[in-house]
Amino acid sequence: MDLKRMHAAVAAYAEGADERDVARLRFFERVLELQQRRADELAARHAGDGAPCELPEGTDVAGLYRRQESVFSQAPVAIDPAELAETLAAVAGCIADGAGLSPQASVGLRAVDWGALAAGLDMRQAGSDPAGFIDDVLMHADGLGVSTQVPLGVLASVLQLSLRPHLQPAAEWVARQCRQDRETPPASASLDCPVCGAPAAASWVGESAGTDGRGRVQYCATCGTQWGFERIRCTNCGTRNEGHLHYHSVAGDPAHRIQTCDECGGYSRVVFREDLEKGPFVMEVEDVVMANLDQIANDPRLREQLLDSKRV
Ligand SMILES: [Zn+2]
Ligand SMILES: [Zn+2]
Repeated sequence: MDLKRMHAAVAAYAEGADERDVARLRFFERVLELQQRRADELAARHAGDGAPCELPEGTDVAGLYRRQESVFSQAPVAIDPAELAETLAAVAGCIADGAGLSPQASVGLRAVDWGALAAGLDMRQAGSDPAGFIDDVLMHADGLGVSTQVPLGVLASVLQLSLRPHLQPAAEWVARQCRQDRETPPASASLDCPVCGAPAAASWVGESAGTDGRGRVQYCATCGTQWGFERIRCTNCGTRNEGHLHYHSVAGDPAHRIQTCDECGGYSRVVFREDLEKGPFVMEVEDVVMANLDQIANDPRLREQLLDSKRV
């Protein structure tokens, strides 16, 4: 992520937004900056270490990518527990300061001994299946010295946001090795991230090399990978049944839409780049801006009142 573009994108959205939205944007701006600076620091520190993930003998990373499963599940990223602990402490501090948590949750978050916590976690799983790793940590949070005052959703965010700087340099390395494969969209793209296996956070539609300009591009917030995906396809269950997929936009904002699926009942958030009004396009910032769509998608009453339905 280019920090200059990120700051410009945040500034464009903050202009004219209400106070609450500005505070939210500015908070995530600090988190995004922290993540990128930490990713750069870790990448520089490990620049001489060779490949950032452990490839099994006789395999090449492009071959793994072509299978569209998860590259890291076969070639795990080495994560140092002490380094992860430092990132966790920095991200937790940022969240305790500015995320608007209850005072008890903030105190609980600050009290966690991240060094002891990370030392007891399975770093192999963190580097090969980050989404599964987060689920496992949440399941055993009580035994890890995390106060019950810290909501599990907050702990999940701390973990996901902290893993990104450790995974992103390896994900960028994979992208460089697979440049050619990434330019030719596979016949059937992966629903989950083809690099780290986490579910996609959101997607965008617009001109892009990897999708012939017709498709869409999925975005993984866990490792930062973007990959080509079919425009008319559910990102949750994979159906291509056009009649069962619908786009909805909140009145007045055609750029940020929800795609719903009648088959699985799921939804996903999609940015239509040609409808964006201002600022440079930075998917990390769009992900933050689209958080309100989750509220709408999860509230049936709001869904009915606010959505102005549009077919694909
Ligand atoms: Zn990923
Ligand atoms: Zn579906």
